[in-house]
Amino acid sequence: SKADGGGTYRFFELDMDARMQARRSLELDLRKAIVTNEFEVYYQPIIDVKTGAVTSCEALVRWRHPERGMISPMEFIPLAEETGLIVPLGEWILRQACTEAAKWPSHVTIAVNLSPAQFKSKNLVPAVTKALVSSGLPAKRLELEITELVLIQDNESAFAILHQLRDLGIRIAMDDFGTGYSSLGYLRSFPFDKIKIDQSFIQDLPHKEESLAIVRAVVGLSSSLGIVTTAEGVETDEQLSSVTSEGCTEFQGYLFSRPQSAGDIGRTLSEQATP
Ligand code: C2E
Ligand code: CA
Ligand code: CA
Ligand code: CA
Repeated sequence: SKADGGGTYRFFELDMDARMQARRSLELDLRKAIVTNEFEVYYQPIIDVKTGAVTSCEALVRWRHPERGMISPMEFIPLAEETGLIVPLGEWILRQACTEAAKWPSHVTIAVNLSPAQFKSKNLVPAVTKALVSSGLPAKRLELEITELVLIQDNESAFAILHQLRDLGIRIAMDDFGTGYSSLGYLRSFPFDKIKIDQSFIQDLPHKEESLAIVRAVVGLSSSLGIVTTAEGVETDEQLSSVTSEGCTEFQGYLFSRPQSAGDIGRTLSEQATP
């Protein structure tokens, strides 16, 4: 009936309203969270397949919300991007990560994720330089991870910024490789140091033929271009033996370790350094 239809419509509107309000309140909380220190950076080890040693750690941000508990970056990073808050948050993450990494054994590098909005801010290169100078971390121990989303929009200036970063001695990794439209094309446009093969391919190994064929092709291509490959999201021994026999350079995943707090990763790395 008409009355029911109207009722349904109003209900839908309310529902939209409630969702908008929840988003708005999360956005307000996000603005406050930087000031009130609710963010924390965790670190996940990345392991050399051949030696079993930790070569690097990836910085992964966490938000400890006073009422809602831990909120996943999958939920707040997109919001931080839309609102531009990723720029100050990203600079904070960089400073934090470089400062921790400066305390680690000197062969261990730090990988930091960058968002497209950080490339548009015009302040990225100065912010990265400042993080290196204030932490004392040598540029060669910093690696920046980008997805092809950085390169899609306005790619001329994104490439120019990537070249400036690389000229400083920083390494550049392509993240989530294989999930975008044109991952392959970008390999021709920029000399990436590393390719991180997305976990969606790794998690089907070794049983899904298509994923195995893709991993094999990516490793083959990378090695002929002199690019390091990292298998992301390795959870089982079976997946590890598969990425090992396919010739991946490194792996990362719950099988070795979940992301750890700064204190825990510091202890993990110093235990590894002392035989
Ligand atoms: P990502 O850059 O692809 O990071 C890898 C994600 O996979 C992390 O999720 C990590 O905890 C998770 N992971 C690692 N090993 C395994 C595994 O064996 N199995 C499974 N199922 N997952 C595994 P996390 O920390 O929740 O981060 C999610 C995404 O949020 C990241 O994906 C990245 O896109 C974004 N993100 C996280 N931290 C930052 C940051 O500091 N800056 C920016 N711009 N984005 C970030
Ligand atoms: Ca990443
Ligand atoms: Ca990834
Ligand atoms: Ca991802």
